[in-house]
Amino acid sequence: MPETIPPSTETVRELALSSLRRIGVVLPEGEGLHARTPITGETLFRLAATTAEEADLAVSDAVGAFETWRTTPAPARGVLVRRLGELLREHKNDLADLVTIEAGKIRSEALGEIQEMIDICEFAVGLSRQLYGRTIASERPGHRLAETWHPLGVVGVISAFNFPAAVWSWNTAVALVCGDTVVWKPSELTPLISLACSHLLDRAAADTGVPRDVHRLVLAGRDIGEMLVEDPRVALVSATGSTRMGRAIGPKVAARFGRTLLELGGNNASIVAPSADLDLALSGIVFAAAGTAGQRCTTLRRLIVHRDIADEMVDRVVAAYRKLPIGDPFSDSTLVGPLISRVAADAMTQALARAEAEGGKVLVGGDSRLSEEAPHASYVAPAVVRMPEQTAVVLEETFAPILYVLTYEDLDEAIALNNAVPQGLSSSIFTLDQREAERFLAADGSDCGISNVNIGTSGAEIGGAFGGEKETGGGRESGSDSWRAYMRRATNTVNYSSTLTLAQNVSFL
Ligand code: NAD
Repeated sequence: MPETIPPSTETVRELALSSLRRIGVVLPEGEGLHARTPITGETLFRLAATTAEEADLAVSDAVGAFETWRTTPAPARGVLVRRLGELLREHKNDLADLVTIEAGKIRSEALGEIQEMIDICEFAVGLSRQLYGRTIASERPGHRLAETWHPLGVVGVISAFNFPAAVWSWNTAVALVCGDTVVWKPSELTPLISLACSHLLDRAAADTGVPRDVHRLVLAGRDIGEMLVEDPRVALVSATGSTRMGRAIGPKVAARFGRTLLELGGNNASIVAPSADLDLALSGIVFAAAGTAGQRCTTLRRLIVHRDIADEMVDRVVAAYRKLPIGDPFSDSTLVGPLISRVAADAMTQALARAEAEGGKVLVGGDSRLSEEAPHASYVAPAVVRMPEQTAVVLEETFAPILYVLTYEDLDEAIALNNAVPQGLSSSIFTLDQREAERFLAADGSDCGISNVNIGTSGAEIGGAFGGEKETGGGRESGSDSWRAYMRRATNTVNYSSTLTLAQNVSFL
């Protein structure tokens, strides 16, 4: 497998400084946070973390800004988001560099992440004129029954390292046009891109005459995330990250009758049926399983192949894996960049050992790479493991590039395997048989929030609602009618007659 040598920490630091300078970010130097790059595994800058007092003030400021923002007409709120989209487009390359530097994404995927942000801004601007309520037929003469949608308040956005910018924009662009204000607690692993995004939104606010406090960034670890979770002034906590995190925060927000929008871990599968176009399936599988070094919530983690084609399909996947270029995410020839940390690499090693103990056979990958050139970084070869059945380790999300292969005989069995994990984010089937495709998409088919046909599990478009069921948390972000999660509904009955008629023919007085 070819390797591309990563640049030095000094080179990465210079690149980060140039991008930040062009965007206009001044780094808050101090203590509490390390801006680190997985490319070399070393620290680039030491930054001041937001204190508890500052975070408290950020929420107060966002509460204050909500007072005027909620009555600003929605199309006027869209003007702010349109300006943000323009600035993101202008700084697309610089922002993508920061995503590569902090999350380790290869260039094409980092650019894709910024494009996704531009797309959601465009979507949200359109949405700012389409926050529709319904008019409902009233049972009473001379009455109008309708529903209206109003802003919720402050939205606390807690985000994960692996989509350090896009997930923020999914939430923020939609929340802002809905009339909410936002306090963002990004992953402590990605402070630079967070500073850059927040700075561009501040600039957009200044350019459009909007109070800066409609959005506040708190740059800190999970302690400040916990503050947002406990704070009754935060109407909605939209949290993206591990199921462990969601399990910790969900009950706390529920206990104060706040709202949550949870986007948690996935354990995604693709079924490959005998009729499948295997060339198409191969491309879809390799991108979904090895792309982003297996660090997408929608990464393909389980391949469920029909017994008759399993050997051929697996041989082809293994052959493709042997050719995957690993290393410098800035190099155009690299397809697999670094894992975020040593902890992630250790989790992968442990999962592979468990898979072998549970009867699996590692067919390719799992070994670490570039240990001499970048001793503090974690480059690993994506692994394919053939499993005798869906054992305990396969039921867990290991956030690293491990593809478990299972076989099936009939489609019901394959769908049962797809659904027999605690998570329910993404799924797909490769088949040219329409009956199989429709069966997979039916009510007794895949139980996931995302079910695809003839593409892989990852790489969603912003126009659709994004999210999943079961331990994935049940939330929906991004497109379709996800905006409703950021607003409250009021049902209005207007009596324009001169008599007071009671519903259900009740008589009184
Ligand atoms: P993580 O759970 O470690 O951290 C995510 C965020 O939650 C961080 O900002 C962290 O500081 C914060 N946090 C953690 N515990 C908290 C607590 N108790 N209270 C408040 N805040 C807390 O996740 P990660 O390692 O950054 O990201 C990887 C995980 O995110 C994977 O499980 C992946 O599947 C998931 N993810 C899901 C989606 C989705 O849309 N479903 C998208 C991206 C990532």
